[in-house]
Amino acid sequence: MMINKAVKPIQVGVLGFGGLGQAAAKILATKQEMNLVAAADHQGYIYDPAGLNIDAAISTYRDRNTVGYSPNYGVLSSNSIQDVIDNAVVDGYFLALPNLPNTFMAEVAQQFIKSGWQGVLVDALKRTSAVEQLLELQSNLAKAGITYLTGCGATPGLLTAAAVVAAQSYAEIHSVKITFGVGIANWEAYRATIREDIAHMPGYDVEQARAMSDAEVATLLDKTDGIISLENMEHADDIMLELAGVCDRDRVTVGGVVDTRNPKKPLSTNVKVTGRTFEGKISTHTFTLGDETSMAANVCGPAFGYLKAGMALNRRGITGLFTAAEIMPQFVK
Ligand code: NAD
Repeated sequence: MMINKAVKPIQVGVLGFGGLGQAAAKILATKQEMNLVAAADHQGYIYDPAGLNIDAAISTYRDRNTVGYSPNYGVLSSNSIQDVIDNAVVDGYFLALPNLPNTFMAEVAQQFIKSGWQGVLVDALKRTSAVEQLLELQSNLAKAGITYLTGCGATPGLLTAAAVVAAQSYAEIHSVKITFGVGIANWEAYRATIREDIAHMPGYDVEQARAMSDAEVATLLDKTDGIISLENMEHADDIMLELAGVCDRDRVTVGGVVDTRNPKKPLSTNVKVTGRTFEGKISTHTFTLGDETSMAANVCGPAFGYLKAGMALNRRGITGLFTAAEIMPQFVK
């Protein structure tokens, strides 16, 4: 007799429906193992337990700035995250939210803890100090029955995990050097990403970048021909690799170039892991992403791979905080 192994798809919500949130929705449209049932933005949310009409949600957001205007299932709300937590039945959320201010994601995590909701949360946080705030919530998340995976984008995320794998050839790790190239056609498609990148530029901080109007961002980008070059960034790859026991955080460096006017990458994104083998040889492994892969593909793909891995942990009763450097993402079909 055939055993019916059909498993109910994971019911997914995406909080934040900007550049990454919409890309995440498009990815989920192609998946059988995950079903996008909820999405929220700054002014509203949409919840349909049967699964969202993704094209319709994206065009409503594009035309009216919020999915809250979606026919039938859209709700306008200035408290959309809390409303989704209270009203939607969701197994796991991808938090595609801006981390502005730098405490925002930790506040959202606390909101989930207080609500009594149980399930899996995945973020694509970037700053070390933001991940440190989540580490303080470790035991509260565990007690609440939440499996929270942090730093699950591209960097940190895909490249950090690749560094952990690459490190296995060595007895000692001397350096992990991440260099990213991002090309996007226009900065408005990824406002939070670009503001958070500006916050790393010399003379800027997170609060200044957050307070900049769209016109001020455009003026700054005019001065740089649309290019943002960054080095020695405060990136959580460092703390994640330290926690994973790969190397001290001061051996990890992250920098890159963002072209906000051209979808072609200005350079190939890569991670170089240099170390000494047990025979005493010094060598470097390099893992380079294909130039055709977009930032959205390299962030949202891993985020859902980690969400699937998080579901497997959660179903076994394993809760608390994990980073992308300590869990292997699973491939989502
Ligand atoms: P975006 O500006 O395009 O969209 C943000 C979305 O969040 C919007 O839909 C907005 O309405 C919504 N939002 C804002 N405040 C909200 C609130 N209080 N409640 C509900 N919704 C709210 O953002 P983006 O460019 O897609 O970036 C999202 C995040 O992803 C950023 O923090 C960015 O740094 C991060 N990111 C990580 C990586 C990585 O590799 N780890 C790469 C790129 C971007």
